[in-house]
Order: sequence, then C-alpha cells, then structure tokens
Amino acid sequence: MPGRGADVLPSGSPRRDDSSLPWAWRVQPSAGSMFIGHYGAAYAIKRWRPDISLFALFLAVQVLDVAWSVFVMLGIEKVRIVPGFTRTNPLDLYYMPYTHSLVGAFVWALACAAIYVLALRRAAVAGVALGVAMFSHWVFDLVVHRADLALYDNTAKVGLGLWNFPLLAFSLEIALVLGGLALYLSGRRSLDRIGRYGPWVFCTLLIAVQTMVFFGGAIGSPDQAAVIALVSYFGFAAIAQWLDRHEGGRAPRGLATAVPT
Ligand SMILES: [Zn+2]
Repeated sequence: MPGRGADVLPSGSPRRDDSSLPWAWRVQPSAGSMFIGHYGAAYAIKRWRPDISLFALFLAVQVLDVAWSVFVMLGIEKVRIVPGFTRTNPLDLYYMPYTHSLVGAFVWALACAAIYVLALRRAAVAGVALGVAMFSHWVFDLVVHRADLALYDNTAKVGLGLWNFPLLAFSLEIALVLGGLALYLSGRRSLDRIGRYGPWVFCTLLIAVQTMVFFGGAIGSPDQAAVIALVSYFGFAAIAQWLDRHEGGRAPRGLATAVPT
C-alpha cells in the first residue's frame, strides 16, 4: 500500500517490471532517493575536515533524501509513479518544497550546521563544512533531476535532467564516489588490511547497489523502497565510519607521493 504521498499513475498503465519495457525504464522508486555520487562529497569534505566523523558526513549528504522519504510516507511531500517519466526512473516528483527546494535545502543545511556547532560545541568552520556537505546534495540533484527542484515553495523549478541519459548519469555517480574516495584516501594512512582494501570493497558494494537501483527490477511499493533507502543510509554511514577507524591520521605532506631514488 503506497504511502499517502505516493501515488501510482496513471491507472491501467503498464507494470513497471513489464519485460516489454526498455531496460532503462525497468527501475524502482528508490532510484529517486539513492545516489551514491553524494558520498563523493562526503569523502572529499572528510579530507578537508578530518575532525568531522564520516558517519556524520555520510548522513549529512543524504539528509534531504532521508527527510524526503519520511515526508513522503507521512504525505507531506508527494511523488507519483509514471512509467517512462524519465529514462532512468518513473518518478514524477511533483511536490517536495520542504526538502528539495533551493530555499528548503539552504534552511536544512543552516539548521543542521547550527545544531552541530551549538549542541555538540564544534568549531564554526566544522559547522560550515557540514552545511556544505548537506547543501551539496541539492547541487548534485540539480544535475540529474528533471525540472522538479523548486527554487522556493513549489515554483520556479529547475533541473538539468541527466536522468534522461542513464549511462551518463550512472557514469557520473561512479566518477564522483571514486573521485571522492581517492581524495579521502590520499590524506590517510591505512593502519591494516581492512583500512587498505576495505574502502575500495565498500565502494564496489555501493556501485553494485547503484547498479541494481538503476538497472534492476521493481522491488515493491514506494513505502517499502523508502524504508529500504532509510536503512541503507544509516547502514552505509556506519560502515564508512567503521572503516575510517582503520585509517590513520593525515599522511605527512609529500610522503604519499615521494619516489625513492
Ligand atoms: Zn535528493
């Protein structure tokens, strides 16, 4: 049973797992709330501010989608499934002013950064970094979404629509997460084998999940997809944090690139 914010339209339309549909259309609703490229920003900002936990950064870059999942289940924001709506996923994200408008995203970033600084007594610059991580979500979404991201309220909608080019969108996600990971690791010294290989294995897992989201079959109702997405966000953040414990501090400047003569 779809949540109050999720409708399947139009009635009588072909099933989303209909094998007669082009492969790029056979995807499930979680595609709108899964985007591993966001984690590239988390890794990059961890390189900038090693004092912020990867757990916090992994959640920060997905806060807007976590909130979106909850709001859709509560019927506060709306989505409907229209087969073939974009070439990557069937989501008509027609009402999400609180989590995915430019103003909304800015307010979330500002509020979370303020809570981080004031409640946890962190340095202001760490709060700024967390806010940047959070806001990066909207910027990355702008690239892939069709014009469904409002500048304010539910009007003046923008989006560059890369989801209409599935292979390009998929490649960008992988490039972002691997680029961010490489940047993060260039500033760390692995303490053991888990630290050396773990992050790459983890990112391979993330890419596998993204592949299933993009090219896999339907997995159920929007509510089920939202719950799976929520569990995944926290699970991924916990794994990233655990792996980070197997990394040492910032590598001495120049050591990583030094070539013995
Ligand atoms: Zn989003």
